[in-house]
Amino acid sequence: MSSNDAGNSDRMEKKEANGLTEKQSTIAMKLAERLVGQSDGSQDPTDEVITWSELVKEEEDEKEKDAALYGAQDFNSCTYTQGYLPRQTLFICLTCTPSPQQAGICLGCSENCHEGHELVELYTKRKFCCDCGNSKFTAKCKLFEEKQPENQLNAYNQNYVGLFCHCNQPYPSPLIEEEEHQCVICEDWFHMTHIDPTFNVKDEELQKKMNGPGSMVCNSCIAKVPFLLPLESETDTSTVCFSKNKSFSVPRDKRFFLLAVKWRNRICKCAECIAIMEMAQCEYLIDSEDDLDTFVEKNLSKVKEEEEKMTEPAVARALVSEFGAEGAIHVLDGVNMLKRKMATFFEQYKDVSRMGLKWKLCPFNFQKVVTKDDVHAFFGQVHEEYEAKKARRDEDQNGSGL
Ligand SMILES: [Zn+2]
Ligand SMILES: [Zn+2]
Ligand SMILES: [Zn+2]
Ligand SMILES: [Zn+2]
Ligand SMILES: [Zn+2]
Ligand SMILES: [Zn+2]
Repeated sequence: MSSNDAGNSDRMEKKEANGLTEKQSTIAMKLAERLVGQSDGSQDPTDEVITWSELVKEEEDEKEKDAALYGAQDFNSCTYTQGYLPRQTLFICLTCTPSPQQAGICLGCSENCHEGHELVELYTKRKFCCDCGNSKFTAKCKLFEEKQPENQLNAYNQNYVGLFCHCNQPYPSPLIEEEEHQCVICEDWFHMTHIDPTFNVKDEELQKKMNGPGSMVCNSCIAKVPFLLPLESETDTSTVCFSKNKSFSVPRDKRFFLLAVKWRNRICKCAECIAIMEMAQCEYLIDSEDDLDTFVEKNLSKVKEEEEKMTEPAVARALVSEFGAEGAIHVLDGVNMLKRKMATFFEQYKDVSRMGLKWKLCPFNFQKVVTKDDVHAFFGQVHEEYEAKKARRDEDQNGSGL
């Protein structure tokens, strides 16, 4: 998945506001976790520094991915009751079902039934029904126990034992650094150079296309769906009727298709076209719910909806119900102090973060870094001041009590 530049600059602007944004809080906590929690005496100097822009990037990527994949998903129920969902995020558990057993579990099960297990994320798959706790497992599913022994219609491949591409590597592969792309037909993931040895990973135009909104059909699948070839065209956006293009011939040296943006909308839905797709067992291509973009949009809009609900009064109400009126005031007091402190802390790095976006273009390529010591000092100071304030408050209370 790629992030677009407009979105990035938008987010950078928000960060420049005077107060501490939610993202800064998250980043600060991450920073604290990573650095303060890391004080195990290891003296490797490469551990000492994390650049601000690296951290922002990491945080943004993670948050964006989470929102896109999980935004509208239920973390606490098993999707088994919904049958073969058109699309869902899936995992495998190598602890419960080691190779050669092939089984997939839903998001809810990954969270509730396989805590601490070795999980592999499979991104999203079509028409799959959760296997958790069925005959492939020894442990029962904690969310929905009454499953059939097997889900007959699930289609498994090597992904379900944690291997990807023609090279049969785990992800990430310790041997191959190249990015992987998912085939829209077989849904396996591939290094493009393993599909087409002439594929130039350094070709920026090509990379942009690969990471754009189109879809890839791998070399194993193009022979099954040769009729999709006209949907590669970026200039001709007319509807393609497969029945009018009987000769489906694919050039010999063609190793993959790169279907252009909104290619699904261009598929003709006449009876003959549907018959052709049914023959090729790919009629899901005209199901909007099969479309990853639709899935992602649904997740993102849910996240937005939730964010809009989290207004300040809503947060205040939640705090009061959790801690009582007086407790809520103390919590808010502490949070506000922490916010002020962090705003000052981040102020020091603001110029650097603004530069972070452009640092790759900068000939000097220098970045100020946030060090472990900076963060230790910052949180140490905040902690001290908080303790002092608390002590004063306790004193006041005791004083008034006498
Ligand atoms: Zn499940
Ligand atoms: Zn497990
Ligand atoms: Zn389960
Ligand atoms: Zn490969
Ligand atoms: Zn494929
Ligand atoms: Zn047609």
